[in-house]
Amino acid sequence: MQARAEELRLSGKRIAFVPTMGYLHEGHLSLIDAAGRESDIVIVSIFVNPTQFGPQEDFENYPRDLERDIELAKKRGAHIVFHPSAEAMYGECPLTNVEVSRITDVLCGASRQGHFRGVATVVTKLFNIVKPHLAVFGQKDAQQAAVILKMVEDLNMDIEIRIAPIVRESDGLAMSSRNVRLKAEDRKNALILSRTLFSIREGLYNGEPLGKLLEQGRAKIQKIPGARLDYLEARTFPGMELLQNADPDKNCLIALAARFGKVRLIDNVLIPKKGEQRV
Ligand code: AMP
Repeated sequence: MQARAEELRLSGKRIAFVPTMGYLHEGHLSLIDAAGRESDIVIVSIFVNPTQFGPQEDFENYPRDLERDIELAKKRGAHIVFHPSAEAMYGECPLTNVEVSRITDVLCGASRQGHFRGVATVVTKLFNIVKPHLAVFGQKDAQQAAVILKMVEDLNMDIEIRIAPIVRESDGLAMSSRNVRLKAEDRKNALILSRTLFSIREGLYNGEPLGKLLEQGRAKIQKIPGARLDYLEARTFPGMELLQNADPDKNCLIALAARFGKVRLIDNVLIPKKGEQRV
């Protein structure tokens, strides 16, 4: 892959990269669209990265379907699908990690020890292998996007980062590879997540206080049978500072994580600062 990428660069091609863990859905495919609009060559990686899963997490049960993924990615315009084995990625005994501090202590980082070190390390490795000019990430994983932006800035990586909007099912649930693992009842109940986020955003636009909206949102989710809320918080984006009150001069990320059975779901809405377009 590295030799191929070098060849492409030398022949003047602009490479855009979409890293994924596979089991592709319309959210991933929208990133391929975005990548295609700004490049000559789109490379998609499919790698369920073991180092970003904790020992009690769902690495083994993460859904996989490589053949279908390759077909979907290619149909949508990907030129190369890179799917390395864990052995090829990590070899015998890697001793080097990339650690982004502080912004990884909160939200998902607080309950998923080592998760963002795994993410930052594998994304660095993939960047070094794929040699992209541009990489596209989804706002669905907003904290991950913030971590990548900071890592690229701090380590002077010569790669442009794009953040693409969240793609949702028609009823509002954020698309996720993990959604197929939801039991039918939980799939229905999980609608509370996006509904709560949308109603908080609506409340903020109507001038209601952030603290009260978050409290009401937490209470609504906790009342749903089978739902276990991990967090529902407002933070600046990409700085990840806790927001007690809405501040029109800061991007406000309302983010949540909740479990339904064994499935952990995340979702968010981003309310851009004054002067930037609402999404
Ligand atoms: P994953 O395969 O879950 O690691 O996701 C790979 C990339 O796709 C990440 O940049 C995610 O943020 C992005 N992504 C996942 N789900 C969605 C979605 N529903 N909408 C937009 N991007 C998404």
